[in-house]
Amino acid sequence: MTIEIKFDARGQALGLRLTQGFAPTLKEDPAEAEVVSHRLLIRAGFIRKLAAGIYSLLPFGLRSIRKLELIVRREMNRSGALEVLLPAVQPGELWKESGRWDFYGQELLRFRDRHDRDCVLAPTHEEVITDIARREIRSWRDLPLNLYQIQTKFRDEIRPRFGLMRGREFIMKDGYSFDADEAASDLSYRAMHEAYTRIFQTCGLKFAVVEADSGAIGGSHSHEFMVLAETGEDGLAFCQCGYAANQEKAGLATYATLAPKDPAPPLTETHTPGCRQVPELAAFLGVPPGRIIKCLAFETGLGPILALIPGDREINPVKLKNHLGGPEPRLLTPEEAEALTGAPLGFLGPLGTRLKVVADHGLGRLKNGVIGAGRADFHYLNAEAGRDFHVDQWLDLALAQAGDPCPACGGRLSVKRGIEVGHIFKLGLKYSSALKAVYARPDGGDEPLFMGCYGIGIGRTLAAAVEQNHDQDGIIWPVALAPYEAAVLPLQVQNEKVAAAGEKLFQELMDLGVETVLDDRDERPGLKFKDADLIGCPFRVTVSEKSLAAGEAELKFRATREVARLPLSETAAALRRLRDEG
Ligand code: ATP
Ligand code: MG
Repeated sequence: MTIEIKFDARGQALGLRLTQGFAPTLKEDPAEAEVVSHRLLIRAGFIRKLAAGIYSLLPFGLRSIRKLELIVRREMNRSGALEVLLPAVQPGELWKESGRWDFYGQELLRFRDRHDRDCVLAPTHEEVITDIARREIRSWRDLPLNLYQIQTKFRDEIRPRFGLMRGREFIMKDGYSFDADEAASDLSYRAMHEAYTRIFQTCGLKFAVVEADSGAIGGSHSHEFMVLAETGEDGLAFCQCGYAANQEKAGLATYATLAPKDPAPPLTETHTPGCRQVPELAAFLGVPPGRIIKCLAFETGLGPILALIPGDREINPVKLKNHLGGPEPRLLTPEEAEALTGAPLGFLGPLGTRLKVVADHGLGRLKNGVIGAGRADFHYLNAEAGRDFHVDQWLDLALAQAGDPCPACGGRLSVKRGIEVGHIFKLGLKYSSALKAVYARPDGGDEPLFMGCYGIGIGRTLAAAVEQNHDQDGIIWPVALAPYEAAVLPLQVQNEKVAAAGEKLFQELMDLGVETVLDDRDERPGLKFKDADLIGCPFRVTVSEKSLAAGEAELKFRATREVARLPLSETAAALRRLRDEG
């Protein structure tokens, strides 16, 4: 039978014969892949690695990416935003003007062109878009304006990993809004919040929106869109009252600290041989970990500091950075810490130190703390801040954890893991002031533009979809992101009747607008099933000598593994109905 391949309005084929396709599947897990999505996207033939954090998209991978981009475009356009395409290579001058040439650090890839001019490979596009705005936006009549693009970014991440999840080169949708004042800017922000919500709903993903830190982009206020998955790099704090925040952002003005003991006994030095870690020290001394004062040494860019935190708590480096106002603080290596303080790690202490000391509020009431003595194998008992050692600054430094009081209502926080797929920021005047982007008010005076910026990681969203939707056999694509919605498997292609039935179904499905891959390879049924499960199209239709004898095809749902037998003539229409129902 001659098959007529159909194409959609964008030129994408609705169907593919696998014998003519390029989907190199692998039996074995690739050695370098640490997380499920990375492993499966490689094994299913969606992506291939070129260099650390740099991947090629193969045909199946690109189809899924294009579908996601289409969903994003549709919702961005619906919200009134306009698509542009900005240059990836940008003059360093512009980054010096905004101040980020110095601030951005090593993630910003810099190079020189043949004229010896500084250039960057853009990690984000606030500078360029603000430059356009300052040249082209004249008056209040030009506002509001929201411009977006879908484009390749480069960030020289220190630890690129997890495939598309944290690449160095990756595709991002980034958008930027310009408004006359804060109230109007808030409306633009809200419109993006709603567009993003529709985007991730359409993708069929389970996600949460959380309050977030603004990081290197800056600005006053931001939310992240998080795909919920056990393997997520971000911890998220939730409360039943509706409070939701990234753990690195979640405020912790008050949390349970140990009650003070009266009267406070004097400071006493005690021998603690080899007790470097909180758990072993707590066990050795028979004290609760919360009474141990962890002492961490950081390089902050403004000089080294000691940071003190209760032993049953983790420090939140993002809060530390925001309090200090410098670049990302770096924990000193054991060698550096010892060279600086004279004490090996595990025995650092604030007594008599020349370094600046910052301490978490949670230590404020502790009167019988245990703290490093500043020399190997000794700690002090009964340490009390103020009495025994000096604290330069009391700060909120602890990472929120499950059970902590909610900063909004005092209820109990729970913690889940998530993958950041989108991030929206209220930038305010940060870039418009730096680059002098103004508009003329109706009365003629100049006002700076209020800005917002909005990102979605396209590749990361695809990886997150896999992270959330898979089983031991492979990917389980949500219908909206599947490279093809249906896979037709004729099990014995040497049998003409089986081959013809497969082709007929293939044609019928395409005619009904169902994106279909026909596995017309002359392979064992077992291998076809394995590949179909791995690639993860939501619907699988099998025809075999046996099913044909009954006049039937077998329909299998990838997600639930449910199987239905349908009359051959009704299969395509039934499948289309199921697809449309989602
Ligand atoms: P992260 O904290 O994960 O490093 P970010 O907060 O620096 O990300 P943004 O500047 O908010 O990232 O970028 C917008 C979106 O781009 C992110 O929400 C994420 O989905 C995506 N993204 C950022 N960095 C990467 C990367 N290295 N690889 C893939 N996607 C990324
Ligand atoms: Mg972010």
